Amino acid sequence: MEIHVIGAGLAGCETAFFLAEREIKVKLYDIKPEKLTEGHKSKNFGELLCSNSLRGDSLTNAVGLLKEEMRIAGSLMMKCAEKTKVPAGGALAVDRKKFEECMTEYIKSHKNIDVFCEEIVNPDELAGIKVIAAGPLATDRLTDWIAKKTGKNNLFFFDAIAPIVDGETIDYSKTFFASRYEKGEGSDYLNCPMNKEEYLEFWNALIDAETVKLKDFEKNKKLFEGCLPVEEIAKRGEDALRFGPLKPVGLKNPDTGEEYYAVVQLRKEDKEGRFYNLVGFQTHLTYPEQKRVFRLIPGLENARFERFGRMHKNTYINSPEVLDNFFRLKKDRSIFFAGQISGVEGYVESAASGLMVGFFIYSMLKKGEPLHFPKETALTGLTRHISMKTSNFQPSNITFSLIPDIEKRIKNRRERRLAIAERSLEKLKQFVNVNFFLQK
Ligand SMILES: Cc1cc2nc3c(=O)[nH]c(=O)nc-3n(C[C@H](O)[C@H](O)[C@H](O)COP(=O)(O)OP(=O)(O)OC[C@H]3O[C@@H](n4cnc5c(N)ncnc54)[C@H](O)[C@@H]3O)c2cc1C
Repeated sequence: MEIHVIGAGLAGCETAFFLAEREIKVKLYDIKPEKLTEGHKSKNFGELLCSNSLRGDSLTNAVGLLKEEMRIAGSLMMKCAEKTKVPAGGALAVDRKKFEECMTEYIKSHKNIDVFCEEIVNPDELAGIKVIAAGPLATDRLTDWIAKKTGKNNLFFFDAIAPIVDGETIDYSKTFFASRYEKGEGSDYLNCPMNKEEYLEFWNALIDAETVKLKDFEKNKKLFEGCLPVEEIAKRGEDALRFGPLKPVGLKNPDTGEEYYAVVQLRKEDKEGRFYNLVGFQTHLTYPEQKRVFRLIPGLENARFERFGRMHKNTYINSPEVLDNFFRLKKDRSIFFAGQISGVEGYVESAASGLMVGFFIYSMLKKGEPLHFPKETALTGLTRHISMKTSNFQPSNITFSLIPDIEKRIKNRRERRLAIAERSLEKLKQFVNVNFFLQK
C-alpha cells in the first residue's frame, strides 16, 4: 500500500519519519523549495513560522508533558530540538536555521522517504493512504479539494480563541454561579460582576492595551461580526461591551438578588470545573497585556492563564464533525489529516498529531485497525480535543483540561500535575514497548 504525505511541515515530517523508521516507504510532497506559501520564508522542511520557542519544558506544564511523551515516542522534532537548542530559561527554544536544516537532512537522507517538490491539488489522484498535512496556509487549490471532501461548512479560515484560566486561582468570594435567566444548570457559568467604576477601569485599560502586529496577509481578512476581538468591540464605545459579551441582563446573584452594571461570564472547560474559559474574549492583545488587563476583572486578580486568547489566519477543518478519533476522514478512511489543519494548535501539537497519525497508519497496516494511545497521555488529550463536538470548534493547544485528573486528591497544584505527568509517562513507556514495533 502506498503512503502519500502532503506537506513537509512539522506534522508531515513526523508522520513520514515515524513510518520510515519502521521500514514503511513514504512519498512526501511539498511545494518547497520551488514555491512558498504567503507565510513561509524558508526553503527547508519543518519550518518554524514565527517564534523559535517550543514553549515550556517542565512536566507541570501541559506542553512540557507532551514534549516528554514525544521524546519517548521517538519524535523527529524532539531529536532536532535537542541537537539545536539554545538557552531560554524554562522554555525549550532552538536555533531556527539549524533546527530546520536538521529536520530537512533527516527527511531527505532517509532511505524510506521519497521527496517530491510538487503542489498536490487533488489527492484523490494518489492511490493508497493520503495524509493531508498542508498546514494552516495550505494552497488554495488543495483547500478547494478539502472543502469538497469535508463540506464547505466544515472548513474555516480564521481562528479566534478565548483565554482559559485555572479554576484554583479564581477568587470565588467575588463571583457567583448562575445561567442567564436561570436557564440550564445553575452552575454552568461562573459570573464575575462589575460595578460601574470597575467596568470603566477595565474598559479604559482594554481600549489602550497593546495588540499583536498582524502579518500582511492577515490584514485584509474580514472578521465575522460574531467573532470580533473583545478590544475591537470595546473601541466601538463605552457601553459596547455591556451590550455584548459583558451583558448583565438576566444575571442576578442567586444569594442576594443583586443585579450588576456588567458581568464577565466564565464557562467550564471540563466537567469538574478545573478550568474556565472567558466567554467572548477572543483577542489580539499581546500575552502580557492579556494578563494585565484581564486580571482587572473581579475574581481574576490572581488568575493563572492556562492558555491565552488569540486570533490568526488559520485554515482548519471541523474535525469533530468530519474526522474519527484516529484523525481519519469518516467518509473516506484512506484519508488522514495531521497538524494545524486538523484542529490542533501550535508547533508541538502539530508535530505530535503527525507522530500520532504515523502510529495510527502503522498499527492499521499491521493489525487491520489503528490502536489508541493510552487515555492518560497528553497525546490522547489532542485526540480528545479534535473529537469534542461544540457549536464553535476552534484549534487548541494542549492543556491539562484535556488530560484526565488523577483519582487521588493532591491539594498542591504542582505536585498534582507531576503525579498526572508521571502516570502518563509510565503508561506511555509500557505502550511503546509493546506496540511500537508490531508484528503482523
Ligand atoms: C503566521 C503563523 C504563525 C505561527 N506562529 C506560531 C508560533 O510562533 N508558535 C507556534 O507554536 N505555532 C505557531 N503557528 C501555528 C502552527 O504551529 C504552525 O502553523 C505550524 O507550522 C503548523 O505545522 P503544520 O505541519 O501543520 O503546517 P506547516 O508547518 O505550515 O507545514 C505545511 C507544509 O505544507 C506545504 N504545502 C501547503 N500546501 C501544499 C500543497 N498543496 N501541496 C504540497 N505541499 C503543500 C507547505 O509548503 C508547508 O511546508 C503559527 C501559524 C501561522 C499561520
